[in-house]
This record gives sequence, C-alpha cells and structure tokens, in this order.
Amino acid sequence: MQTPADQKNTSRTDRLGGIIDAVLKPLRFASKDGFLHISSVKSLEPLMARLCDEAASVAGPQAHSLAFDDLKSLFEGFDSLPVDEKKLRVTRALSLASGLLPATPAPVTDAGGLLPAPPGSVMDASEMPGPLEPPSVKETLRRLSLLRTPLESVKGVGPKMAERFAKKGLVTVEDILYFLPLRYEDRSSIRKIRELAPGSHQSAVGEVMAAGEARYGKRKVYEAALSDSTSILKLKWFHYKLSYMKGRLKVGSRIRVYGAVSAFGNQKEMIHPDIEPFSTGSDDGDGDEQGSLTPVYSQVEPFHQKTLRKIVREVVDTYGPGAIDGVPPNILKRCSMMPIGVAFKEAHHPGGTVEDKAHLAARRSLVFDELFLLELGLALKRRSAKMESGIAFASGGELEGRLRGLLPFTLTRAQETVLAEIKKDMSQPHPMNRLVQGDVGSGKTVVSFIAALKAIEAGYQAAIMAPTEILAEQHFLNIRAHADGLGINAVLLKGAMKGADKKKALESIRLGEAGLVVGTHALIQKDVEFKKLGLAVIDEQHRFGVSQRAALKKKGVCSEASASPDILIMTATPIPRTLSMTVFGDLDVSVIDELPPGRKPVTTRLIREKDRAKAYDAIRTEHVSGSQCYIVYPLVEESEEFLSLKDATNMAEHLGHDIFPEFSVGLLHGRMNSAEKEAVMRDFKAKRIDILVSTTVIEVGVDVPNATVMLIEHAERFGLAQLHQLRGRVGRGEKKSLCLLLAQWTNSEDTYRRLKVMEETMDGFKIAEEDLKIRGPGDFLGTRQAGLPDFRTAEALTDLTLLKKAREEAFAFLKSDPGLNSPRAACVKEVLKARWEGRLELAEVG
Ligand code: ADP
Ligand code: MG
Repeated sequence: MQTPADQKNTSRTDRLGGIIDAVLKPLRFASKDGFLHISSVKSLEPLMARLCDEAASVAGPQAHSLAFDDLKSLFEGFDSLPVDEKKLRVTRALSLASGLLPATPAPVTDAGGLLPAPPGSVMDASEMPGPLEPPSVKETLRRLSLLRTPLESVKGVGPKMAERFAKKGLVTVEDILYFLPLRYEDRSSIRKIRELAPGSHQSAVGEVMAAGEARYGKRKVYEAALSDSTSILKLKWFHYKLSYMKGRLKVGSRIRVYGAVSAFGNQKEMIHPDIEPFSTGSDDGDGDEQGSLTPVYSQVEPFHQKTLRKIVREVVDTYGPGAIDGVPPNILKRCSMMPIGVAFKEAHHPGGTVEDKAHLAARRSLVFDELFLLELGLALKRRSAKMESGIAFASGGELEGRLRGLLPFTLTRAQETVLAEIKKDMSQPHPMNRLVQGDVGSGKTVVSFIAALKAIEAGYQAAIMAPTEILAEQHFLNIRAHADGLGINAVLLKGAMKGADKKKALESIRLGEAGLVVGTHALIQKDVEFKKLGLAVIDEQHRFGVSQRAALKKKGVCSEASASPDILIMTATPIPRTLSMTVFGDLDVSVIDELPPGRKPVTTRLIREKDRAKAYDAIRTEHVSGSQCYIVYPLVEESEEFLSLKDATNMAEHLGHDIFPEFSVGLLHGRMNSAEKEAVMRDFKAKRIDILVSTTVIEVGVDVPNATVMLIEHAERFGLAQLHQLRGRVGRGEKKSLCLLLAQWTNSEDTYRRLKVMEETMDGFKIAEEDLKIRGPGDFLGTRQAGLPDFRTAEALTDLTLLKKAREEAFAFLKSDPGLNSPRAACVKEVLKARWEGRLELAEVG
C-alpha cells in the first residue's frame, strides 16, 4: 500500500531519474566508441549547470545536493579544456551521475537479499539449490546501477582518495571488483633471510638497518640493508624516485619484501623488490587471515598494498554479492563456473592455498562471464544482420568479363574462390557483411574492384574507403586506369579537397554520375550524399572502427537504394582463423591464401644495435644496384607520436648529413599535410628520393616496386603482425628484397624468439598464430576499434578454448530462446546491454 508520502517520493524519484537521464545522455554520447565524439560535444557547461540545479532542487536538501554541485563543477570551462582532460571529466561525471540515479543502495536487509550477504554465507556453486529464481528486470537494473556507485561513496574512501584511484581508471565499485590482483603472495613463503634460495621469488621480513643512495661511477643506485635474526639481505633499485624511496624505507622500520633472490658473492640480494610495511606481531595487521594467499594489486600511488587491500575488501564484501551473472545458472553449472559474486570473492581473497587454485578457477569464471556476454552480443548482431533487407544484385558479368580482358594477369585460384563467395553474397536479398583477409600483395584490390563492377552494372554506386590519403590516391590511380577503359566514372574524394574540386566531386556523387567513389574518411562526412549506394568496400579494416563501418552503411540506407548496401571489408592483418571466426562473429570471413606467382621472398635479418654499421653497408650496397630504401620508426602509442616524430626527423637529418651524404634522404610522417605527403611519395616513386625515413604511415598499401630494402628501427616495439605489414612494402618488384630488423633483446628471450619468427617465415598467418601464442588475442583487436565491449579481465582474450566454449553456449542459449523473453533471459539481456554500453543496437536486443 502506498501512502501519500510514498507517492510524493515516487514522483520525486521519477523526476530526478528523468533529469539524471538527461545528464547521462550527452555524456554517454561523448564517451561512446572511445570518445569518438568528444570534440563535437559543445556547451555542456550551461546544460549541466541547469540540469544539476534542477536536480538538486528536486532531490531536496537531504540528498546528494553536494554531489550535484560536484557534477556541475566538472563542467566549468569545459569547452576550452584539452581533450584528455575532457575525457577524464566526462568519465568522472558519468560515474557520478550514474551513481545518483534514484536506485541508490538499498538497506542491508533489503528483501532482494543481494546486499551484502553476511560474511560466510555467500553461496558456493556446488551448493546452489538448482536454478534460482532469476532477479526481475527491475531488480537487475537496480543491481547494475549499484555497481556504478562511485568509489568515493565506499566506506573509508574520501574524494581525495577517489581521485587517486580515478587516475588509474578506477572510478566505480565495479572497477574495483574487476581490479583483480596482479598476483598472489603465498604467505607461507616468508623465509628467514638465511634460508632464501637464489633463483626464485620469495618473501622475507626484516628491519631496515640502513638505506640510501649509492654511486657506482656514474650510476646511482638506491640500496637498503634488511636484517632479521639470521642474516642480512641487500635491496637494490636502479630506477626510483628519491623522495618516494625515502618515504618507504625508514631506518628501523619493519618491512616485508618480495622479489627474485640473487646472490652476489656471499651477499644475498633482491633487485627491485616489492616492499610493504610489516607491523610487529603475528600478522601484518591488514586482516587478511583467511587464506594463505595474499592478493597483491597493481600500485595506486601513493597507497600501500595494505590500504589497497582494505579498500578492495570493503568493496568486494559490500558489492560483490550483488554483482549479476551474465551467464545463466544452468550454464554456469554445466561449465563448472562459479557464480560471479563467489568468483569476485575468491579472486580477491582466495580461501584456499596455492595448490587449491581456487583463485584461478575464480578468474576463469570472471573471464567466462565476459566472454559469454561478448559472444551473445555477437550472436545477436549476426542474427539481425541476416534479417536485414538488402539488395540482390542481378547476375550480369559483362563489365567483369571486359575487365578480365584488360588485366595483364589471370586471377589466382584463391582470388577466384573468394570472388565466388562475394558474388554469392551479393546476389542474396540480405546485405553482405564479409571480411576478406589476404596477405600483403595477395591481390585484394582487384577482387574488390570486380565486386564493385557487379554493383555498378546493376545500376548502383560503389564506394571504396581507404585509411590514408596516400592509399586512397593509389587505389584511385590504379582503378581509374581500368575504369576509363570500361566507361566508368571514378571519383576521388579526400578530406583535403577544397572549394570547387570538392563541390564537383560531391555533386557527381549525389547525382549518381560517379559510379565508383574512392576516398578516405571523407566519404562518411555529413556532406556526402550518394544517389544509390549499393556496395561499400572498406580497405584495411584494422584502421577503421565499427562505427565508421556503420556510418558508411548508413549512406546507403539514406540513398535511393534505401536498403543496406553490401559491405566488403578487406584486411591484410592476418588474423588467425580461430580468432576471426570467434571475435568477428558478425562477419563472414574469406581468405585469399595464396600469392600471385613469381613473388620473391624477402630475406629478413635480425640485427643488434652494435651492428648498425652493417645495416648501413647493406643499404649502400643495394643502392649501388639502383634500389631504394625505407627506414621506419615505430609509433607505438599516440602519446609517443611526438617522440617518434622527433626520432624520425632527427634521424632523417643525421642520415642525410653524416651517414649517406651521397644520397637524397626524404622524410614522411603523419603530421605532414596531405600535399606534403603526396609530394614526398611522388618524389620517392620517381626515384628523386633514395632513402625514405618514415613513421608507420607507410604501413599500408604503399606500392613502390623499386624499394627493396627496409630497415626497421626498434623492431622489438612492434607486434609481429605489424612488422609483417611493414615488410610487405618491399619485395614488390623483380629484385630480391631485404628487411633488416634493428632490435634490442638483451634482456628478453621472448623478444628474440618472437623476432626470430620474422626471419623464418613470410607466411602472414603463421606469423599471426605466433603472435597469438606469444601475446594473446587481445593484441589483435583494439577492442574499442573492433566495436567490442571493453574487457575488464586482462585474461579475457588469452584463452581460445574458453572463448570457443563461451561462444557455443551463447549461440545455443540464443537459439533456445530467440526472443530472449524468458525471465532468465530478460535479466541476461539487461546485463548484456550494460556490458556493451550502447554498442549493440537496441533493436538487435529486442
Ligand atoms: P593487396 O592484397 O596487398 O591489397 P594488391 O591488390 O595491391 O594487394 O595487389 C598487389 C599487386 O599484385 C598489384 O600490383 C596487383 O596488380 C598484382 N596482382 C593482383 N592479382 C594478381 C594476379 N592474380 N597475378 C599477378 N599479379 C596480381
Ligand atoms: Mg591493399
């Protein structure tokens, strides 16, 4: 029964909910797809101020009004903030606002019984009484929003502290639940110093006798001596912050150290050990006495492990039991997985010993939960794509026949096979979503061109989108040569086009005069309107995100064609088949697994820094015989763009002046505008440049057959797949080619083994499989880019077997309840939506 007071509360709650939704909407938009739209979101300040004031007045004095002030203050001067700061603010605001949704934490005795279970009562998978009543949708939503509670509302965490955590991306309680220990320390492994055995990781406890900076020649080392009743252990740091070390290593304090033990003569040492305070008494006082495994977390400055443990424990105890399983209980049982609440507990505070491996099982369960939701989402995407209506292109084939007559070669068997698959898709009344993988130089362009001809012949337009202007131009020039002969009007559209040129191009696209449009991202800009788009080809998919794919698709729907165009995605990133089938679950995959005849393998050599001169000699020798050369610098992260640019720039100068004064050395990098880039590429093609120093902008597609040497600097910083891509720039002509990998591997056997693979094989798929083995699948797929949800467990994409299992279960689950209508599925559906954060079209979820 509702009292009038209740009713008043309800309407207030509703109004508040409405306002907060209005707050969340632009924030979600801004953060979507890896903050793709952050720069286009303007004037948040006045909007947020208005909404926050309104919310505060509705909420009344008792509740949250301070929080609304906080929220408001996040947007002060927002428009003029640097982008990174904007992202940070939006992230904080999102979590703050989500936490303010009226479904705030219920009291402990809540009838739903989810929060917090009294200690020890958490259910174990084995004692689960058959399938539990699924929580209602409402309950599910409430629990999901609870997980978004900002960290600062957790007991023992203030705003200052929360800020430190936020720096590490830990903003909500869910973030903390997934802040899984880096490792676990076996408490029973604490040894007396005398008993420490060199060669393995161990812990010891002792008193700091002395600590300070020592100098050995030029080198500074921070050293400390730790003593217990048995012996003395030396601790050493080569990289450190002095003030930090001073604060942590006070003479006379007791600490626990953990690290690899080595022996230096008679003296036992630990280099860069982990240290933490150890209070006297039988335990170290952080209250983790249940099991013998202690979690060790990634550092959050400036907190000690002890503090981290306490906070995580608080969160796990309070919120862990309320976490919602994405996986239905019967599937959990069948796959021997723990319910998620139990898994969080066991992952953070394993009950058993190292041998029990409960912590590993727990982590596996968390991973499985993520993978199940991933695959379920993909299953839905795939299903809805198959139901969409598309264009069934008529057979024809006249243009294709004429093109084949014009080509100086015949297609390889692999090209023919893939082409047949494409043509079959195109004749269906549903849109094609096909990924064509083919190693560098396998001849993907001509295949896509023939597909385009099929669309054009049927009276539609075709578009080819390339990731860089250089590549778009190259495609355009290659294609135009044939297009002219076939009477097809091909048009180039790039971002750098201005004024009359651009207007003319846009006009011919809109009027349908342009049968084939080749371009960059410019193709998906607002001002581009197709008359009748039938096929969209996306070259080098790994450079584009799913949202760009969707944008191009929309161009078709908005045109006279009005149905979804067929989509053909081409990639030279050799994604291992096992992986692509699983992770690109919404795409069909074709592989061009054969190179045109007559290609010469590229000789690849691994070279150490000290042999740099030999590399230069090789370049000189090749040059004598008329060859050109690439020298490539890594661009590992955006943040390093500047550094790498500086490297490449300095290096180009240094090489030109000091090493190869007799050659002309050119420079190509991403910061140059397209006219500059174009000029450099033209000079290189025309052999006016002998040595092209470049960042990875030359990675894709660039075709200069006379370049037969490539030197890759810092090869250890690249993934194998990327090295393979780069290497594909040479070996394109008649001459034998050489690829030199300058690398450092002194400290890493792994690096050496990894790079050695490059020497051994030219097979992109083999290389990819190696990369997969060494680095795990995650590296292949910038998950944001691939349009997948973020993985919260680091291990999410490391276990293919688990991935396959999750896929089978997810697909079977959807098959058994296609509408996701059962009460169980309805709950899963909400968890799914939350996990994919809007990256699943709602229509797909139903
Ligand atoms: P990629 O798959 O890397 O995009 P391209 O489509 O650029 O490869 O093709 C590389 C080169 O091989 C081009 O010069 C192209 O004309 C040529 N080519 C394509 N198919 C064949 C074939 N069947 N026989 C011989 N050369 C081919
Ligand atoms: Mg290509």
